[in-house]
Amino acid sequence: MLSYRHSFHAGNPADVLKHLVLFEVLQYLTQKDKALEYIDTHSGAGMYAFSSNEAQKTQEFEQGIAKLWHYNGDSPTIKNYLALIKRFNLQKLAFYPGSPAVADDVLRAHDKSWLFELHPQDHKLLTENFKPTRKRKVRLEDGFKGLLGLLPPESRRACILMDPPYEIKSDYELVVKTIIKAHKRFSSGTYMIWYPVVQRERIDTMEQTLIDSGIKNIHLYELGTSQDTQEHGMTASGMIVINPPWKLKATMDTVMPELVEYLSHKDGFYRSVELVAE
Ligand code: SAM
Repeated sequence: MLSYRHSFHAGNPADVLKHLVLFEVLQYLTQKDKALEYIDTHSGAGMYAFSSNEAQKTQEFEQGIAKLWHYNGDSPTIKNYLALIKRFNLQKLAFYPGSPAVADDVLRAHDKSWLFELHPQDHKLLTENFKPTRKRKVRLEDGFKGLLGLLPPESRRACILMDPPYEIKSDYELVVKTIIKAHKRFSSGTYMIWYPVVQRERIDTMEQTLIDSGIKNIHLYELGTSQDTQEHGMTASGMIVINPPWKLKATMDTVMPELVEYLSHKDGFYRSVELVAE
């Protein structure tokens, strides 16, 4: 029984980091003419209104996108991400685009997307927000299995986002096992894995298993809104990127300190690390 609904969390600091990285990666990969396949293993509803009961209940967006909304710094990457969010809003911040919407903004007519979502209600919303077409498949299926069934992709170019809720603790292990299997079938894809830091040991294990797997070219970008704690709750989140665009690390090295400044508490921090070299 799935209980997680992303509508409670949309636009929080974790979403800001995730979607900023996703947007950067997709923009880079669509510079080449050749068709790209975007595979979103855990898509959510695709679009979120801050007026919803769920968003109003947690108000998590107030700690994330709402803080960055009036950004007045110089980072072209943050400005570019904010321009994306502004395309979904008129003057007031009212909506937040989920990963399928971020991808839809970048993908071209000849690219293809595969959106997996297992929660029946979110799948229904997703299909309303993003109508299935010949180039956009929306599946009420397990995204871990769905991904493996699609590799290697027809176009031989693909970008994968794996963003599970981790409400089942075995997801930490399943994510890494699935990525290793996927990489064996298709080693040149760009893979992005989102993770929450609730218990640091779980992330240490994920990182070490990936390092030991033999997969090359793995980067990690993590935003800590406060220091790790043993108490309940997420204090940081990150994106692990396999085969990142070559400029991504340099870009994130300039972006992360600003995200900490805008989105973290006094004890916030970031990590921008090359886990495994090319
Ligand atoms: N990627 C979305 C975004 O960035 O806007 C947010 C996704 S949310 C963190 C995780 C989603 O995965 C939830 O909507 C949940 O219903 C769905 N889910 C959980 N287990 C799944 C599975 N095995 N396969 C596909 N979707 C699943």
